[in-house]
Order: sequence, then structure tokens, then C-alpha cells
Amino acid sequence: MPTPPQRPLDALGLARSGAVVEREFPVAGFERLRDRLAEPTGRARVHMEFRQAGHWPAAKLAAEADVVLTCQRCLGPMQRTLTSESQLVFADAGSAELPEGCEAVGGDPQALDLAALVEDELLLALPIIPQHAAGEACALPSAAKAADDATEAGAMRRPFAGLKDLLKH
Ligand SMILES: [Zn+2]
Repeated sequence: MPTPPQRPLDALGLARSGAVVEREFPVAGFERLRDRLAEPTGRARVHMEFRQAGHWPAAKLAAEADVVLTCQRCLGPMQRTLTSESQLVFADAGSAELPEGCEAVGGDPQALDLAALVEDELLLALPIIPQHAAGEACALPSAAKAADDATEAGAMRRPFAGLKDLLKH
């Protein structure tokens, strides 16, 4: 039963029927995630298995997205696949008899914003300091370094330039 990805889900009904939901989202649509990427490209794939956990609707959410991050060492682009797997229960945190090891997702379970949920999970899956791995091309930014050197040299030359101006007058 294909539905538009932006349509809210009824987690209550889906859990009752033990439904499996698969969706894809363009990464460009995730505003918060997009800010952390080198390029707003790629797609997020989502696989969700709903179930009933006691009297709460619950689901296993697996999300995966190919993204381009900025390496913090060379400032070059790097491809990464963000993966996330979480056990969710659709109830306010602190509700009674929540199943163990589940992350509570508050709000109306019958109007579940899957895109926002997936974006939250992918944000958590981001590496804290993205860096090329050993064996990947991680060139130190020679151009940027040269520019830095030039600025430094420029700063050092400036007093002399000023002196030259003084001598001229
Ligand atoms: Zn790098």
C-alpha cells in the first residue's frame, strides 16, 4: 500500500496489524541533517517493523542513508553510509509499563511524523568528527595551507610596508 512519504503514520493501527513499512526520503528534505553535510544529496532508506509491546504500539526502526560529509582533517568530501537501528515505543517517556530497552516517542501515535523521526535517528548516527579512514585519500589542504602561509607572511611584511611608507614621507 504505497502512501506519500510525508503522510503521517498511524502507529497504533500498524502495530495492531504487525505491519512492515518501507519508505525512502531524499536527504535534501531533512533540513537539520542537510546543515551537517557537504552536499545535500542521497536518499534515506527506512524499514520499520511494527509490533505490539504490552499495551503500547512499538516498532523496530532501521534507517540507512548515503551522505557526503566534510572530512575535518582535509576538509574534503567523504562518502559515508549512516546507519541506525532503534527499538521505539510510541508513548510518552515516563508512561507506565514501558517495554525495556525501547526509546519512547511521544506525541500522537496515530499521526506519526516518520520523516522527523528518521531525521532524528540519522542525526544521532553522524560521526562526531568525520574523518577519512586509513586508506582513503585524505590530502591535507595544500591550497588552503598555502593561503594561510601567505597570510602569515603578509602579516609579517606589514610592519615593513608601513616603515617603507614612513620613509617615503
Ligand atoms: Zn580527509
